[in-house]
Amino acid sequence: MITVNSVSKKYGDRVVLDHVDLHVKKGEIYAILGRNGAGKTTLIKCIMNLINYEGNISYGFEPADLYENISLQMQTSMFEEGVRVIDICKLYKEILNSKVNINELLKKFDLEEHSKTYVNKLSGGQKQKLSILLTLLNEPKVIIFDELTTGLDVMARRNTWSLLKEINKEKGITIILTSHFLDEVEYLADNIIVLERGKRSVSGSVKEIVANSFGDRKKISFSYYGSADTNTDFSFQYRIDDKGKYIVDFDSKDESEIYNEIKHKGGEDININHFSFEDAFLKILGYKMTEKGEIKDA
Ligand code: ADP
Repeated sequence: MITVNSVSKKYGDRVVLDHVDLHVKKGEIYAILGRNGAGKTTLIKCIMNLINYEGNISYGFEPADLYENISLQMQTSMFEEGVRVIDICKLYKEILNSKVNINELLKKFDLEEHSKTYVNKLSGGQKQKLSILLTLLNEPKVIIFDELTTGLDVMARRNTWSLLKEINKEKGITIILTSHFLDEVEYLADNIIVLERGKRSVSGSVKEIVANSFGDRKKISFSYYGSADTNTDFSFQYRIDDKGKYIVDFDSKDESEIYNEIKHKGGEDININHFSFEDAFLKILGYKMTEKGEIKDA
């Protein structure tokens, strides 16, 4: 649906995007992940042809029809203060010359009873729903969400995720989103690109990224308090995480041997898991991200 080919962008001497390649398939959810300043929004602006860039972007439709085919979600802070939900829907419908039934959409998004509410009186989650609803008015092939759930509480984030999945599955709309939340990307995205200082650092599906980082390895976590009559040393390598848990990264074939040793030496709360997307992210980039998209050292 969208192919970005060696796209670069400079502001003055500053390279913000550096030969980025990606391919968004029809009907998928594609995530652009990265910390603040990584270049996510700039890449969206290139895709939307809002700024000049070097390289090439091709679309599964005529480039001249870009704005009919792609909807970009408006940040809810852009809404006028004194305007009601129904007014803004009607305004958009008119501007976009849309044939979509607004009442049906309001119902679907649980906003029907708020249709006369002033936009600035809506909760964060309701505003978010409204802005997603507005992206549907021109019946787009693609919707782009920039920082989808930044600033929302946990419940509103989950609701937003379900809505997106629904739109994607029911209407077959291709979705591109930017995010600095690993859980969001892991839950929603079929494919991901991680941007690091304007460059692609890794891409693929969550499964592929984890498999490329860890292959057939798994991890065991356990609590261990030592004891006078056991040998406190283990025969395998381990690290201790920020919660004081012992973590062992091992090859699946050694699973029973390691498990038995931990048991034998008095380890407790033993958990065996596959590596997560967060583990892979940490391994590849060497840092975790905070809720605000900033670096948190591991
Ligand atoms: P992200 O969306 O990943 O947080 P952005 O794409 O907004 O990152 O920004 C990437 C980098 O480009 C940042 O360092 C930002 O300061 C810089 N940048 C963005 N827009 C401009 C601009 N109009 N002029 C100069 N620098 C910019």
